Amino acid sequence: MKVLLLYPLFPKTFWSYEKILELVNRKVLLPPLGLVTVAAILPQEWEFKLVDRNIRAVTEEEWAWADLVILSAMIVQKKDLLEQIQEAKRRGKSVAVGGPYPTALPEEVQAVGADYLILDEGEITLPMFVEAVQRGESGGTFRSDGNRPDVTTTPIPRFELLELDAYDSMSVQFSRGCPFQCEFCDIIVLYGRKPRTKTPAQLLAELDHLYELGWRRGVFMVDDNFIGNKRNVKLLLEELKVWQAEHQYPFKFNTEASVDLAQDQEMLDLMVDCNFDAVFLGIETPDEESLTLTKKFQNTRSSLGEAVQTITKAGLRPIAGFIIGFDGEKSGSGDRIVRFAEQTAIPTTTFAMLQALPNTALWHRLNKEGRLRGKDGNINQTTLMNFVPTRPVEEIATEYVEAFWTLYDPEGYLDRTYRCFQILGAPRHKAPFKFPALVDLKALAIVCWRQGIKRHTRWKFWHHLFSIMKNNPGVWEHYLAVCAHNEHFLEYRQIVRDEIEEQIREFKAQQLPLQGKVPENKEAIATTV
Ligand code: SF4
Repeated sequence: MKVLLLYPLFPKTFWSYEKILELVNRKVLLPPLGLVTVAAILPQEWEFKLVDRNIRAVTEEEWAWADLVILSAMIVQKKDLLEQIQEAKRRGKSVAVGGPYPTALPEEVQAVGADYLILDEGEITLPMFVEAVQRGESGGTFRSDGNRPDVTTTPIPRFELLELDAYDSMSVQFSRGCPFQCEFCDIIVLYGRKPRTKTPAQLLAELDHLYELGWRRGVFMVDDNFIGNKRNVKLLLEELKVWQAEHQYPFKFNTEASVDLAQDQEMLDLMVDCNFDAVFLGIETPDEESLTLTKKFQNTRSSLGEAVQTITKAGLRPIAGFIIGFDGEKSGSGDRIVRFAEQTAIPTTTFAMLQALPNTALWHRLNKEGRLRGKDGNINQTTLMNFVPTRPVEEIATEYVEAFWTLYDPEGYLDRTYRCFQILGAPRHKAPFKFPALVDLKALAIVCWRQGIKRHTRWKFWHHLFSIMKNNPGVWEHYLAVCAHNEHFLEYRQIVRDEIEEQIREFKAQQLPLQGKVPENKEAIATTV
């Protein structure tokens, strides 16, 4: 069987980082980890080619070569996924699909002609699909019926299928699932609330494979909450610490974790020892009422500001996720979010309007209340909420655009980044010195030219850089890289403004409801599902 693994295009989003990738001559931030894992689970006598459409289009030879096309996609990739299914069918290929979007809305991929729907987690449903193919069946839907696979049996992803040079960072996954219960979260729907982890040996074997392939840059632990199973993660980190030292620290890691990370000094120390240098934290909002309402109780147990400071001082640069548009939210939420980011000196923040993703507790509640506007939801930063909020959507959208604009103001961004790196704990290890590649020198020259000469913030740029070099010399390269990130956000904030304002105009023209009924009893909201 000749299998073409196809990864659909992402729209231009916050995460696409084009301007930064251009600087370092890379095309995409992260690889399709799901597809290289699928290739490892399927029969190894089958042949595989992988095309990430975010890097390049499929060639005529590749289309002609394939017997079967397998696609995996998240909701943001929906448009290109549906087009590629149709293209593959037009060319007479068998088509199989899987991943979060087909799992959430199988009828939508079926409607455009997908033959096999390999839903839920592949460790269970891919073998069912293979048996069906071997029985000569030309289609089918494979589901795990609530069963969760033991990920200790998941094979090493076939990283060698990737065009490695095109990626800025590699991905590996240690755990699936999260113990918390945030109402808007689809992770707990897809992977459950009991985090399942691989074994340390399994993850180290994946790193060995990447190392043998010559990978020497960043590695993103894609776990949605890396510290979901603290005991097992510490076992991993103990072994990873030794592995990194033996290999002279070839990888820098970053990941996502819940803010209770701040309460675990041992975990923080282990992560920094293993060369983690940044962590994404789901802060969502500084408004405690909204956090309680959305069942993000772990963010209300102690001071969020102090938690961010503890994590920064330990040596992990915080990246924060913020959301606006929770039920019962009071006016001025956008300003409060900006103020929080400023006070806690978080340089990079992802910020979106709340979306009800399919099958989440939020989605079910809003459906019951008759407030859903669309079925699919979208986690793009340029999409209005897909439900009728409890305060005017126009007010939320205006606050959102203004807050996004302020967060990525060149001057504010430079100052916030500077304050973060003044207190950021220094890395404990460094890879042996090697001469920087030409592309890195070129990127450095471009950043210095744009931020240190062309832009009106030039004096600030040089002052902050020299001050960091003097007072916290271990982090100056990291600092410069984060300064460079604003090249992307500066352009992106204009896209956010233009697209959101356009949608509000359309809203008004169609006379759609801008605001829903304010629920009388907040307690009732939190316990609807
Ligand atoms: S902490 Fe993160 S991964 Fe866990 S339930 Fe909440 S949003 Fe989902």
